[in-house]
Amino acid sequence: MSNSSNKKTSRTKINRLPKRGYYDQETLYSILDSALICHVGYILDGEPRVIPTAFARIENEFFIHGSRVAGNIKALASGIMACITVTRLDGLVLARSGFNHSMNYRSVIIYGNGTKVQENEKLNILNAFIDHLIPGRSSDGLKPISKQDLLDTTVIRYPLNEMSAKVRVGHPNDDEEDYDLPVWSGIIPIIREFGEPITDPKMRHTTPMPNYVKYYNK
Ligand SMILES: Cc1cc2nc3c(=O)[nH]c(=O)nc-3n(C[C@H](O)[C@H](O)[C@H](O)COP(=O)(O)OP(=O)(O)OC[C@H]3O[C@@H](n4cnc5c(N)ncnc54)[C@H](O)[C@@H]3O)c2cc1C
Repeated sequence: MSNSSNKKTSRTKINRLPKRGYYDQETLYSILDSALICHVGYILDGEPRVIPTAFARIENEFFIHGSRVAGNIKALASGIMACITVTRLDGLVLARSGFNHSMNYRSVIIYGNGTKVQENEKLNILNAFIDHLIPGRSSDGLKPISKQDLLDTTVIRYPLNEMSAKVRVGHPNDDEEDYDLPVWSGIIPIIREFGEPITDPKMRHTTPMPNYVKYYNK
């Protein structure tokens, strides 16, 4: 397990509006832990690729996983450089001028070279993927992940030691003279909402819906 902490580097230095930048663990991890997916960018045969995928964080390490025969997983497991992004969209920002329209967001960019996780570490980490999406799920009497599942799955780890967050909050930033315009301006908040859980009709037991499902929110 890596004990490294984040360091601002020339690569993670935010150039535009640096006051929106954050490098502290609390901000970075709170964004990562609130997100459901990430996008992994890398170069393969000289061409850029970006794949959306699930992830898990354990302490100062970030994990992705996939079939051991998947092209992206094979490439990333070889240790090539990756740039991983996580984005939460919080609002549409309507300004008085067309040009100053914006979005409220929280985003993280991580740089790193992946390494393949050892066979004996995989189970714990795969359970962390489940719990990242649905906290408490992995220890709720599920069929255990089999040896074959573990063999068929490659898990890749990235140290969380080179990353940045950028956060925009608040109302539009219009030019002073534009505040006289009779145009509605403000924010349309984006609030993630989860629907009512739907019980699988193939359930053969009357197992009650767990509270972590009934009251799911992330
Ligand atoms: C949902 C969303 C919509 C956006 N729309 C626009 C848009 O339309 N036009 C626009 O110019 N910008 C937009 N941005 C901001 C954009 O992501 C960049 O921050 C911006 O282009 C300026 O980059 P820069 O010059 O600061 O950094 P760059 O010089 O491009 O990057 C330097 C380093 O800064 C860090 N960094 C830069 N941006 C981010 C970020 N968003 N999150 C975390 N770390 C970051 C990274 O470590 C990066 O390596 C949007 C961001 C989000 C999340």
